Amino acid sequence: MNSEPATPRLAWSLLQPDWLEVCKAARQPAFRARQIWKWLYQERVDNWESMTNLPAAWRKELAVSHPLTPWAAEERQVADDGVTKLLLTCRDGQAIETVLIPADERLTLCVSTQAGCAFGCAFCATGRGGYVRDLDAGEIVGQYMAASRAAAPRRITNLVVMGMGEPFANYDATLRAVRIFNDYDGIGIGARRITLSTCGVVPGIRRLAGENLQVELSVSLHAPTDELRSRIMPVNRKWPLAELLEACAEYTERTGRIITFEYTLVDGLNDSPEHADALLARIRPVRGRVNLIPLSPVEGYEGRTPTRATCEAYARRLSQGGLNVTLRQSRGGGIDAACGQLRLRRSAART
Ligand code: SF4
Repeated sequence: MNSEPATPRLAWSLLQPDWLEVCKAARQPAFRARQIWKWLYQERVDNWESMTNLPAAWRKELAVSHPLTPWAAEERQVADDGVTKLLLTCRDGQAIETVLIPADERLTLCVSTQAGCAFGCAFCATGRGGYVRDLDAGEIVGQYMAASRAAAPRRITNLVVMGMGEPFANYDATLRAVRIFNDYDGIGIGARRITLSTCGVVPGIRRLAGENLQVELSVSLHAPTDELRSRIMPVNRKWPLAELLEACAEYTERTGRIITFEYTLVDGLNDSPEHADALLARIRPVRGRVNLIPLSPVEGYEGRTPTRATCEAYARRLSQGGLNVTLRQSRGGGIDAACGQLRLRRSAART
């Protein structure tokens, strides 16, 4: 009988129980699963040859069935403020981005979940490039492995799933990767130091509420009315604000956690006192806080960054209305810091 060899699966895609299954199928004792886990996430080796306490013949088989293909970091950009962007190449040639953001004693990694994105938000370079494919969990975890080598000797302390792609459009792979990041015997990033960010995919918010994970959730709003939000975020036509905020309220009730609402301030578009008042009225009933981010210039989008005074006035108005507000600084000046810009520029150069 002819049996097709199983499709290789990146070693970083597997959870601890999956390794037990691999051991069972190979008639290896269960303790080998822990040995592999230790090599992968405590020793952080990137080849099977180095796992010297595993049988040599089995290592050769594992190298084929569960490759540990390191990324080729084709391009690395470091900004004056220390923000580092890596452009990584997948095995099929797709380029994805991952970004390291230092802030005092914290070092945050921003990972991507898709090559490209189908959601088409107006001021996002990734959305402009269109959707190509979902990343698998190993490609998401692999970004961490590459970035942690680039960051050494510093350790990554926080993780945000805010890079290229919409995490809830690739829900299973994203959650699998989050469980690997969070595994106490491995990478061990505490759930509260992991943030998942969505542009407003309501079924994903509802599903996450039932996962029993203490991760942080952030929801991009960027506009206080359906009319404006649908113009700059097409996702709003499918899940308008009322439905989105109802799901957010249910999420906070069910999990006891609060939500961070992201709001990018664009000059003359969504930064007036009236916009602030409308936003206040919309989100006051939900347990949340607001992050205001002045627009970072994006190639191909004509919106401008508001003045600092306008941003501060907007923040003050929300704060006086009783909201917990943070006005963020744009980071990564001098490099293609906004998500997808580096990849977009590289693929434009290719064509
Ligand atoms: S902001 Fe996020 S969801 Fe929107 S187009 Fe960009 S990657 Fe996709």
